[in-house]
Amino acid sequence: MKLRKVTAASAAVLALALTATACGGDDSGDNASSSGSGGGDKIKIGIKYDQPGLGLKTPDGSFTGFDVDVATYVAKELGYKPDQIEWIETKSADRENALARGDVKFIAATYSINDERAQKVDFAGPYLLAHQDLLVKADSDISDATDLNDKKLCSVAGSTSAQNVKKDFAPKAQLRELGTYSECVAALQSGAVDALTTDDSILAGYASQDQYKGKFKLAGLKLSNENYGIGVKKGDTETVNKINDALEKMVGDKAWEKAVEANFGPAEYKNEPAPKIGDLVK
Ligand code: GLU
Repeated sequence: MKLRKVTAASAAVLALALTATACGGDDSGDNASSSGSGGGDKIKIGIKYDQPGLGLKTPDGSFTGFDVDVATYVAKELGYKPDQIEWIETKSADRENALARGDVKFIAATYSINDERAQKVDFAGPYLLAHQDLLVKADSDISDATDLNDKKLCSVAGSTSAQNVKKDFAPKAQLRELGTYSECVAALQSGAVDALTTDDSILAGYASQDQYKGKFKLAGLKLSNENYGIGVKKGDTETVNKINDALEKMVGDKAWEKAVEANFGPAEYKNEPAPKIGDLVK
């Protein structure tokens, strides 16, 4: 167990924890929160910073989006008020490592649950079902995955979107993998690529931005099922269980529905109904 910056209060908690776990080899005493069981000073949560409607850092430094609302609700259930949350940007390719290093306590960042990732991290959820789609210029004649052969297609490194292109529906497209979807949107606007592919939830958010209104359209394809989960460090079953309880409560008390309306309403994104915990749509 790594010991860092131990205050008097947390030393007492730590002493108790050590007694309780004896030589259990629990190494969850990481950087992500000052108390492994919640209710400490701060909690670090991974989100996206550039995905309107999901996870967005606004110019005034505040954070908005469905993932932000879900994460804030979950944090509350773990014992943290909004002002105790420290948001950390976790880009698609960084998520597994951020959890393994203990940079964040959990990640709510359009993070699809799949077998490969589940080898490295644990997931709570799912809390949203999205589908992979294409974003193209309003006057584009790309309307299907079969139109992508030899076309320049943008997606993000470390995403299921890029993987699905290569494996499944457009192996002959010229795939450009950038670091973020906002970089792909810029590439689409400039004509450097012909299409952008990722989850419809994300694409709808970009298409509805004032500066892009009328310029882009979604193809409306359901190329995959993306079950969004909340990632936690591998082996942290206690946190997974607590987050699952929080998600169930959020759906039950209608806070989930409210967050959907507030964040997807402006983009006119037609979301799927709330998924059941543990119920993955393959
Ligand atoms: N949901 C997909 C994934 O987890 C695409 C969105 C993203 O890259 O965050 O890879």
